[in-house]
Amino acid sequence: MRSIRLFPAFLATLALTACAPSTPSASSAAPETEPVRSELFAMDTVMDLTVYGTDPAEGEALLADAEAEIRHLEGLLSVTDPDSEIYAADHSGGVPVPLSEDTADLVAQALTLCERTGGALDISIYPVVRAWGFTTVDYRVPGEEELQSLLRAVDWTRIRLDGDRLTVPDGMEIDLGAVAKGYTGDRLMDLFRDRGVTSALVSLGGNIQALGSKPDGSAWRVALQDPDGDGYAGVVELRDEAAITSGGYERYFEENGVRYWHIIDPADGHPARSGVASATIVGPSGIEGDALSTALFLLGPERAADCWRANDGFDYVLLLEDGTVQISEGLEDRFSLYGDWEGRDLTVIRR
Ligand code: AMP
Ligand code: MG
Repeated sequence: MRSIRLFPAFLATLALTACAPSTPSASSAAPETEPVRSELFAMDTVMDLTVYGTDPAEGEALLADAEAEIRHLEGLLSVTDPDSEIYAADHSGGVPVPLSEDTADLVAQALTLCERTGGALDISIYPVVRAWGFTTVDYRVPGEEELQSLLRAVDWTRIRLDGDRLTVPDGMEIDLGAVAKGYTGDRLMDLFRDRGVTSALVSLGGNIQALGSKPDGSAWRVALQDPDGDGYAGVVELRDEAAITSGGYERYFEENGVRYWHIIDPADGHPARSGVASATIVGPSGIEGDALSTALFLLGPERAADCWRANDGFDYVLLLEDGTVQISEGLEDRFSLYGDWEGRDLTVIRR
């Protein structure tokens, strides 16, 4: 199995980590077999996959297949690889492009989520993200005229998916970066489940997705990164769910004392400033969690609560820039603040 070393710089960008910051309970029953684990770098991030309860050879083969699935999806979705389907659609000059079943499925789900978030998530924001330098790490603050001109080509409602044919109008480009890792997590859970695994945990660049519970039957305990430092701010318990975070601290640059981050408000083309330092979604769907964490970061506390009330099937944690915390009621009994965040003001949002 190919694996890579985890570099500290990447580790520092993880929004969530599967390692519980608390002392493991001494009464935990020992798993019957050793977990099988692999690490890889894909989709521009460090990924860490662990399956429990398989025999070693079976576990290794499964993780090799999981890695192949990740590489397969990466190859379809990359915006920079001229062989990818998304690249083909982005450079089609507005001509319909045939998609594989996987890409069509992801684009269909992504468009639905653009709609459900009222356009906070907009997969056609890519040219604006690029203008800020987030795609090349060649950071700059674009002028207002440039942003306004780029925004004229940002409108997810103009992206057409007819069956397996995708049309990206000439002058527009799409990028599925805000949802690709969540979708990949869903696919990995399907793969593990199909192969009879009942306990697995993946971290895809800080997106945590869990299959089942820990081998001893207890919930996974997942730590949320402190947006103000390297430690943790909270711990949430998961079973058969994803915990997916979007935060301004994950990718940013500073100029003249101002911090600019990678989540862009389609309304004005600027990094979203909603008072949210990080937004975490907890729920059964990885792609939904990924889309909604990006969207709730952008929407801010009030509109995030409205979005949650209008949609079933997920809960959320907002760590706010003013140091306070909001959680939706489904997490009341399974979220706790941690470290520097312990004792901070926490509001439970109710339906
Ligand atoms: P995430 O880390 O999942 O929150 O996704 C953030 C990434 O999605 C950024 O690095 C951009 O490439 C892209 N992005 C930024 N703003 C938006 C937006 N409003 N809608 C969709 N994608 C976005
Ligand atoms: Mg996302």
